[in-house]
Amino acid sequence: MFEKKMDRRSFIKTVAVGAVAAGASPVLFKEAAAAPVPNKWDKEADVVIIGAGAAGLMAAVQANTAGKKALILEKAANAFHSSSTISGGYFAAAGTKAQKAAGINDSVEKMYNDIQKFGGFMNYPHLLKLFCENSAEAYNFVYDNKLAFLRVEPTGGHGTPRAHRSKSFTGRDYIEALLKVIQDRKIAIEYNANVTRLFYDDKKQGVVGVEVTTKGKKSNVKASTSVILASGGFSGNVKKLDNWIPAYAGNGVVIGGSGSDGEGIMMAVRDVGTPTTHMQYSATYPMGIESGKRSGPMARYYFWTPLGAIIVNQEGKRYIDEFTPATKITPELAKQTGKVHYVVLDSAMWDAALKQYPAEVLFCLPSWSMDRVNEEIKKENVLFKADSIEEVATKAKIDPRNLAETVSRYNQYVDNKKDLDFGRKTLPNKLQKGPFYLVKMTFWTCLTLGGIRVNDKLQVLDAFDKVVKGLYAAGEAVGGIHGDTYLFGCAFGWAHTSGWIAGKNAVKG
Ligand SMILES: Cc1cc2nc3c(=O)[nH]c(=O)nc-3n(C[C@H](O)[C@H](O)[C@H](O)COP(=O)(O)OP(=O)(O)OC[C@H]3O[C@@H](n4cnc5c(N)ncnc54)[C@H](O)[C@@H]3O)c2cc1C
Repeated sequence: MFEKKMDRRSFIKTVAVGAVAAGASPVLFKEAAAAPVPNKWDKEADVVIIGAGAAGLMAAVQANTAGKKALILEKAANAFHSSSTISGGYFAAAGTKAQKAAGINDSVEKMYNDIQKFGGFMNYPHLLKLFCENSAEAYNFVYDNKLAFLRVEPTGGHGTPRAHRSKSFTGRDYIEALLKVIQDRKIAIEYNANVTRLFYDDKKQGVVGVEVTTKGKKSNVKASTSVILASGGFSGNVKKLDNWIPAYAGNGVVIGGSGSDGEGIMMAVRDVGTPTTHMQYSATYPMGIESGKRSGPMARYYFWTPLGAIIVNQEGKRYIDEFTPATKITPELAKQTGKVHYVVLDSAMWDAALKQYPAEVLFCLPSWSMDRVNEEIKKENVLFKADSIEEVATKAKIDPRNLAETVSRYNQYVDNKKDLDFGRKTLPNKLQKGPFYLVKMTFWTCLTLGGIRVNDKLQVLDAFDKVVKGLYAAGEAVGGIHGDTYLFGCAFGWAHTSGWIAGKNAVKG
């Protein structure tokens, strides 16, 4: 009924007014929604791509391969501020050349089942299928284009090793490889180009171009075939995260790329009336070190736990098997006092990890060198060190008797090779050699799982599940691929794969 009574333009206006009332960005909604198509275009391309993250760059390569003129519009000053670039670069894919070279036998079905199970069966099957069936092709493209590949790693939640790691331990390796392709093929890319509007043509019943704001100056770019929205999620926007994800609101490190502000998603809501989905889910890890307000590094605690480290809450008690996949620990952390917990290490574990990895890798931030780590230990804010367990506990305001009891109980489990409390399987070393260290951790949010709705061709859907012609979406801007919980490597893998497919489909208009 509603569908019949309302035409698109009045519906979009209603959505926009509702969004303003709900507190959406005043910048975005300060002008009337559903702006008329301009009479004059300043520029034209076949396929206009919004965002130069992994999804946008992959899409551009595909459009170029099909002989189309692609134009990438990126609002940052270069392509190295995106979530893709600063990510850990873990890329989940099944059946890749790298897996085959390592003798790993994987399949689309296994990957599909693992991700679906991990995501609580809340993933859209059509997107998951698309991802799993095409992940190897997308990965192989970057691999074949001089990706600085390191290894394929096993990781919790994936039944088969399929998390592809690159040499720098960041996504920058991928972005550099893709930018080289973009440069070699002379694909147009404009920086400082903030796309501020999608133009919907009522007569053509589709998106026909975009408005771009470059250093305060507006211009209109015609997309003669289609527009691809690859503008990322909202993990760089504290306010949106706190508004939409109540479980973690007000706490923890927020680390998304500077352009991950969710404005691209809201632009699609405003201009074509697409609904959002899965907005309350994020990849929030239990390992943020909040050394500044909502900022700081993270502790790759999973490099310490295989050496014997344990995790305790503010009461000094273990509350979980430390080998539970990280994103499954997070909801349990949300129930702990102060929403914090601590990694407990002895000096043998601390030193062994630092022999294997530099501080910058252990703490996942280039500015966290060993000097910085030592400074933080002196500050006694997030890192603590003392000769005895009781002393280190006191420094962190943990009950010293509780922590001493927890450690002695855990040490017995190591002796007996059985964790009677949480069934932890890896019990290699006792915590016994001082000085002892505590690393205080809380949430660390790096990506969002919600976004706009698309079909299996990655065409954007409107509020009535009808295709919005001329508009595709890819990467983190799309909601619903991960379900309720992100599985390692699947966002970066999805960004590349969905960009690859969106680029292939978008050339058809
Ligand atoms: C610290 C960190 C670690 C991570 N680690 C991993 C990992 O190891 N494995 C994994 O699977 N996932 C990881 N992720 C998530 C993953 O990196 C992202 O989900 C994925 O890279 C998103 O790619 P994208 O191309 O969709 O978006 P992005 O990489 O966010 O790129 C979007 C681009 O669009 C631009 N943009 C936005 N709006 C506009 C606009 N209106 N006009 C023009 N340009 C615009 C932005 O500036 C940005 O450059 C991590 C994320 C972070 C932040």
